[in-house]
Amino acid sequence: MAKKTDFAEKAKKSLQERGVKCPKCGTIKVPILSVTSVRSAHNSYRFNRQHVQVCKCNEKEIYA
Ligand SMILES: [Zn+2]
Repeated sequence: MAKKTDFAEKAKKSLQERGVKCPKCGTIKVPILSVTSVRSAHNSYRFNRQHVQVCKCNEKEIYA
């Protein structure tokens, strides 16, 4: 029993340590690759890729 509990606690801990917890909503931030199209100076589009940390605070904006 004790071993099982230890394992569960360890798994839980490692899961939490992997992500950054948002101080506002308490959700673990999930890194996603966000691609947005940006109009360049020469009237053409290029794609801007960036890694975004998503939590409950900004998930609506990201997934909209
Ligand atoms: Zn948040």
